[in-house]
Amino acid sequence: MTTAVRPRPALSAAAGRVPSSTIRDLLALTEDDRVLSLAGGLPAVGHVHDAVLADIAARVLAEPDAAQYATTEGWAPLRAWLAAGLGADADDVRVTHGSQQALELTVRALVDPGAVVVVERPTYLGAVQALRAADADVRALPVDADGLDTDRLAGLLAGGLRPRLAYLAPTYQNPSGVVMSAERRSHLGALADRYGFVVVDDDPYRDLGFTPPPPRLRDWVPPDLAVTLGSFSKVLAPGLRVGWLHGPGWLVEPLTRLKQAADLHTSTLGQRLVAEAVARPGWLAGRAERLVALYRHRAGVLAAALAAEAGDRLTFAAPRGGMFLWARLPAGRDAAALLPAALARGVAFVPGAAFALDDPPADHLRLCFATLPDADLAEAAARLAAALDAG
Ligand code: PMP
Repeated sequence: MTTAVRPRPALSAAAGRVPSSTIRDLLALTEDDRVLSLAGGLPAVGHVHDAVLADIAARVLAEPDAAQYATTEGWAPLRAWLAAGLGADADDVRVTHGSQQALELTVRALVDPGAVVVVERPTYLGAVQALRAADADVRALPVDADGLDTDRLAGLLAGGLRPRLAYLAPTYQNPSGVVMSAERRSHLGALADRYGFVVVDDDPYRDLGFTPPPPRLRDWVPPDLAVTLGSFSKVLAPGLRVGWLHGPGWLVEPLTRLKQAADLHTSTLGQRLVAEAVARPGWLAGRAERLVALYRHRAGVLAAALAAEAGDRLTFAAPRGGMFLWARLPAGRDAAALLPAALARGVAFVPGAAFALDDPPADHLRLCFATLPDADLAEAAARLAAALDAG
């Protein structure tokens, strides 16, 4: 054997480009009992657990073909249910392994190396990874209290920028929690229509609003340019990895072939479990209601504890839904530099730098209020304030 001298085979450029997810790395910390983690984004589905899922699983598993191969498009009854909810044609709906796969396939179907993609700053970390893998030319535009700054986008488009797609999570955004206003949604739709770029509405938190959300972007974007991504992770079960995509046929068809190459089809068991769950009248909606009540309460507990413990050293808007509080440090302070002091005191968060490729919001931190019980949220806030003092 000559293994000692033989050079290692080269990795693809894509493999080298994709950074490790800061959040998945930080998730390892949630296994350390001494650290209270506000870092992960773990939905509190255990809190609303009941016997129904076990009952559904037993029924699904008893079906002879429940673990058989299935079509790439997705389990027909589930697609029909999704299409009915969207007021859409089931032919334009695909079931995917989480909305992350729907996002990754959309990027793969549309983005060649160097293609321009508009995103929010901050944006979802999983999108950063998919866009990096595709070697997109990512242009991040700031998000304010009303969402993506569409006037800035209009200026860039007028100046000649020609994006292939715009990726947004406009409803209880991860990480900022911001909800894009109806005016901005309408402006974005008009810009897409004029300049001909695809608009991806990544919408996994829609059912977790403390007040009703505005309609989806597809209500404003021309149908041939509108892609909507959704998920059963936040309300039902993230580990099932069942999400979905709705889009125009010209995009959904090639995307289906890319999915064939990736994984043949979404797990039959997962899809059937979800299909049974949505067929139970009111069960999933009831679960969402209980999670909303829990998250609204926990968001309030964390916000109050941060205000009491950290005062004006942390500024933030009260979350309107979703799972995250987006807090800002005093001018000149860097959240990544604060993290070691916070970890040493037993609290974890995600530094803002994780949510953008360039010019990241380094003075921000993302705090997840969904997972921890009240006493731990209060203690985590106290530890964070102590870390702020130390720095
Ligand atoms: N998009 C956004 C904005 C998210 O926050 C998440 C989950 N962190 C996902 C997509 C992926 O969700 P899933 O693949 O579990 O459906």
